[in-house]
Amino acid sequence: MKQKRFILPESEIPTQWYNIQADMVNKPQPMLNPGTKEPIKAEDLYPLFAEECANQEVNQTDRWIDIPAEVREKYAYYRCTPLVRAYGLEEALGTPAHIYFKNESVNPLGSHKLNSAIPQAYYCKQQGVTNVTTETGAGQWGAALSYAAKLYGLDCAVYQVKISYEQKPYRRSIMQVFDALVTPSPSMSTRAGKDILTADPNHQGSLGTAISEAVELAMSTPNCKYLLGSVLNHVCLHQTVIGLEAEKQMAMAGEYPDIVIACFGGGSNFSGIAYPFLRHKLSGEKKNTRFIAAEPASCPKLTHGKFMYDFGDESGYTPLIPMFSLGHDFRPANIHAGGLRYHGAGAIVSQLLKDGLIEATDIRQLDSFAAGTLFAQAEGIIPAPESCHAIAAAINEANKCKETGEEKVILFNLSGHGLVDMTAYDQYISGTMANTGE
Ligand SMILES: *Cc1c(COP(=O)(O)O)cnc(C)c1O
Repeated sequence: MKQKRFILPESEIPTQWYNIQADMVNKPQPMLNPGTKEPIKAEDLYPLFAEECANQEVNQTDRWIDIPAEVREKYAYYRCTPLVRAYGLEEALGTPAHIYFKNESVNPLGSHKLNSAIPQAYYCKQQGVTNVTTETGAGQWGAALSYAAKLYGLDCAVYQVKISYEQKPYRRSIMQVFDALVTPSPSMSTRAGKDILTADPNHQGSLGTAISEAVELAMSTPNCKYLLGSVLNHVCLHQTVIGLEAEKQMAMAGEYPDIVIACFGGGSNFSGIAYPFLRHKLSGEKKNTRFIAAEPASCPKLTHGKFMYDFGDESGYTPLIPMFSLGHDFRPANIHAGGLRYHGAGAIVSQLLKDGLIEATDIRQLDSFAAGTLFAQAEGIIPAPESCHAIAAAINEANKCKETGEEKVILFNLSGHGLVDMTAYDQYISGTMANTGE
C-alpha cells in the first residue's frame, strides 16, 4: 500500500520558530509612526501588544526564537499535524505531479489560526494582562483566540465583521461557547464604529473597521491588549511551525517541493508554510523552489495592489506598514472567503514579492469553489473557502504538469476546513453564487 499520511510524534513539535527577517538580504522596511514618520520601535508597540510579541515584531537578527515549553504543551493538543499525499486528487486530475498538503484543519477550531492565538494569549498572561480584544472576519481567528484566551483565563472581546457575523452565525456561536463577547463591526460601541456608521449606516464591515474598533477598545481599557491574527511579523513567525514540520515530513516522503502554495489573506498561513522552505532558497541551496500566494480576484493586493506605506485599519489608528495594499479604505466584495478580505499584505511578504522571491496569483470565487469541491470529492475533506484558493492554484500547477509531463512536487497548505461554511457551498451547489467584485 502506498503511504498517504506522514505523521510526526509530539516530540517533534518544533522547539523554535523560524524568523526569516534574520536571513533576508533586503530587510522589510520599518513600520512608521503616522504622526512623526519615525520608525516604530518595540517599546512604541507595548501599549497595544504583549511585550514579547512587540519584540518579536521588530527582531531582524535572531534566526531562531524559542517556543516556550508551556506553548509547546498546548500545541500538543493538536500538533504535529499530518502531511498528506493527495493521491485521490492526483488521480482525479490525471496529473503526473505529486501533490501534498499540510492539514492544518485538524485542530479543535479548524484552522491554522490557533498556532498564533496560543502564544499570543500566553505572552499576555505572562505579563499579567487580564483582557484581550481582537477583530475577526469569517470568525476563525476569533474562534481560535476565544479558545486560547479560555486556556489562559483571559477575558476576550471580539469585533466580528458585520457581514460575516450575519453570514456565519455558527462561528459566532463557537466564540460564545468559549465565553467571548462578540460584537458586529462597525458598531456603536466605539468612536471609530460610530464615525463609520454615521458616514454610511449600511456599512457591511471589513477587517479594517473591526481592527479600528478593537484597537480603540484596547487603548481605552486598562490591562487590555490587542491581538492580531495575521499580517504582522510576529504572527507569521508563530505560523512557521507549519513549514518546519512539513519540511521533516517531506523528507519522510523522500521528496522536496518544487512549488509551495498557500492562500493569502494577510499572509500568516502562507508565511507559515513557505518561510522554512524559503530559507533554503535564501541560502542558495534550493534556488528553484517556487512560492505562490493565492489571493481572491476580488481582493488582489499582491497581483494588483501598490507597494506603499498604508494603515492596517480603516480609521488609521495603526502604525503605517510598508506593504502591497489596495488602500486602507478599500471595500472588498462580500465573498465567502472572509479571511481573505483584507486590503494589505504585511511587510515581510511584500518585501519578498518586491525582490522576486515569491509569486502571487489571483483566483476567482467560482473557480475556488470548483477546486474545493473536486478536492472534497477526492480527499474526503471539505476545505475552508479560503483554502479553496490554495487548492485552485495547486490544481492549476498540476494541470500544467499534465501538459508538459513533468513530475513536479507540489505542496500546499490546507489552512482550514469548511464545515462551518456550508451556506457558501449551498450557494455554489444551487448555482446562486457569483464572481462578485472581480
Ligand atoms: C484567516 C484564514 C486565512 C487567511 O489568513 P492568512 O493570515 O493569510 O493565513 C486562510 N485560511 C483560513 C482557514 C483562515 O482562517
